[in-house]
Amino acid sequence: MKYARPLPSYMVTRYQGWKATTHAENKSWYRRLADEGQRPRAMIISCCDSRVHVTSIFGADQGEFFIHRNIANLVPPYNPDGENHGTSAAVEYAVNALKVSHLVVLGHSSCGGVAGCYDMCSGNAPELEEKTSFVGRWMEILRPGFDALPEGDDESRKSALEKISVTVSLNNLMTFPFVQKAVEEGTLSLHGLWNDIGEGTLESYDPDVDGFVTI
Ligand SMILES: [Zn+2]
Repeated sequence: MKYARPLPSYMVTRYQGWKATTHAENKSWYRRLADEGQRPRAMIISCCDSRVHVTSIFGADQGEFFIHRNIANLVPPYNPDGENHGTSAAVEYAVNALKVSHLVVLGHSSCGGVAGCYDMCSGNAPELEEKTSFVGRWMEILRPGFDALPEGDDESRKSALEKISVTVSLNNLMTFPFVQKAVEEGTLSLHGLWNDIGEGTLESYDPDVDGFVTI
């Protein structure tokens, strides 16, 4: 692979700092993590957005969360068609192999993926409707959510769609037979969250009110 290049120096410097401090001071713990394998209690599915700092929000250490990130924290419906499905593979591994107790879908404010979906479904982003747009095709998962949006101004509807991206994913998770089975047996619980990046607030989906409430 002739295109790979050495890391930029700022990354090398940061890594060496981590190795000399955090790692050096907790060597036996890292050794145990390596020897005993991972046993995360929760899987978190979040957006790729660099501002969604999953481990920081929950003060998580290495080995605590099994994290999967994709555009707009979406889970597609169960579709065993023999094709490549990265998100479905991660969910299958977390539930069947790691047997996580919690599966958390974490949405966020100002999500570019959700905004793109909104524009595409409104007919304002023809480039996303192209067959060659991976983002556009991926965001089709959220189109039923767009179709169900109440009337309102664009900003509030986009914000509402960010939360719908969480509930659509939770509903799609339940179409996976092994997720449904674990939930019904009481060994797995699903959770929906939405993070306001500017305010630092976290809202949790509450089925009793069919909406999100601040934690
Ligand atoms: Zn996002």
